[in-house]
Amino acid sequence: MMVNVLRRYPIALNIFWVFLVILVPTPLLLALFVSMGSIATDQRLLIAAGIIAYTWWLLAVFLSTRPKWLERAVGLPKMYLLHGCLGVIALVLAFLHEHYMVSMGQWIIVTGKLAWYLTLFGVLFAAFFMSGWIVDHFPTAANVKIRMQKVIKHQFSIWIHRLNIVAILLVWLHVELIGRVNGHLMFMVLFELYTFGVLGYYGWYKLDQKEGKMAGKVVKNRRLNAKTFQLTLEFQDNVPNLLAGDFLFFTFPTLSQETHPFSLTNKPSEKSHVVVLTIREVGDYTKGLSAVTVGSSFYAEGPFGQFSRIIESEPEKDLTLIGMGTGVAPLMSIAKRYHSRRNIHLIWTVKNKEDEFFRSELENLNDNRLKSFIQVGRVTTYELSQLLSEREIKENRFFVVGSSLAVLSVERSLKQIGVSKQNLSDERLTM
Ligand SMILES: Cc1cc2nc3c(=O)[nH]c(=O)nc-3n(C[C@H](O)[C@H](O)[C@H](O)COP(=O)(O)OP(=O)(O)OC[C@H]3O[C@@H](n4cnc5c(N)ncnc54)[C@H](O)[C@@H]3O)c2cc1C
Repeated sequence: MMVNVLRRYPIALNIFWVFLVILVPTPLLLALFVSMGSIATDQRLLIAAGIIAYTWWLLAVFLSTRPKWLERAVGLPKMYLLHGCLGVIALVLAFLHEHYMVSMGQWIIVTGKLAWYLTLFGVLFAAFFMSGWIVDHFPTAANVKIRMQKVIKHQFSIWIHRLNIVAILLVWLHVELIGRVNGHLMFMVLFELYTFGVLGYYGWYKLDQKEGKMAGKVVKNRRLNAKTFQLTLEFQDNVPNLLAGDFLFFTFPTLSQETHPFSLTNKPSEKSHVVVLTIREVGDYTKGLSAVTVGSSFYAEGPFGQFSRIIESEPEKDLTLIGMGTGVAPLMSIAKRYHSRRNIHLIWTVKNKEDEFFRSELENLNDNRLKSFIQVGRVTTYELSQLLSEREIKENRFFVVGSSLAVLSVERSLKQIGVSKQNLSDERLTM
């Protein structure tokens, strides 16, 4: 019920976020200030800034465990956005606390300063390497990132990001050392519950991920062209409830313990436990994965994704699907699932002729409800205006999938020709 309300009404979602970020620090603030009695207002504000920053970092850690119920309501990108915003705003509050609060104890100062510098580094690093906040808007920064990613791989970035847990433990120690705080029993009980509740849950989530609740075997590994291959996987334990266009985080233990997201290319069905993935070799992991053998085991976390839910919630809308490169994978899944019920226009752009590996499959699917268009090279704004009818532009639901920069560029073009923001949904395959 709540999930449906959050999904349907953006205002409900905003109220939910505001409520959540106010609610989370409130018990700690009340417990401390009631117990402390009267203190100067500036001191009170600075202490409050520190407590709010700390609880928001804990909330950000909780969100990093990708809670399923929340993902189903709002989608992973919005969860990651809140995760990032909390990190940044908490950093500002922590700065006020660290900079203006007077403290006498040497270790109190050292732990506080270390935590602050560590989170400052963590936030700047994540903003550049793990989000599109900087690189999506500055092409030079994007080029620098692409070059640096040859050395600083995504998996390394994840480990750097985990330094935030060390920062949280430093803040925990910092608070434990403050004499005028650690004597307030109710506050300290809540403080320990918050800290070890969230860190314990995070640790359990990581272990649970490794256990691999949804597991299965590779049943086919087929090459589509020099750079792309298709894996067919069969779930054996705890088959997930998959919807068209969903993605999952996969781990192939024979390769490594890393988890990487890939989208469904096939039409999921209740009877079949099979998923088909279309994967482009872009880096070390995907290159290694291309050689995975039949019979190898895998496990998965998910499913995630909003596409099918959006489609089901708008029964009157036809669909325009725009995929760049392997971004077509989830769109193939949607096309196969919905072309008997909706009018679908699928536009697929590829780098070169050899990348048109779905051409014949799409031609077979083409009928009076599905039309597809394949082009070598990106579509320009003008080409889009020629390809799409007035009715499509005004009324259709658009799904755009590809690398972050390609998605943003196509979305800019779509807006220029009159597609409204409300009708645009996307999935970005790069970070
Ligand atoms: C929601 C989603 C669905 C995706 N679906 C597909 C698909 O169906 N087919 C396909 O070929 N690719 C898909 N991708 C992209 C795929 O996950 C990456 O190409 C792959 O993880 C790259 O790993 P690498 O080590 O080979 O390359 P790298 O050189 O390490 O990375 C290449 C790019 O992928 C990003 N990336 C690397 N590892 C991860 C990770 N663990 N999680 C998220 N991003 C990562 C990097 O930030 C970089 O932008 C999807 C990505 C997302 C976010």
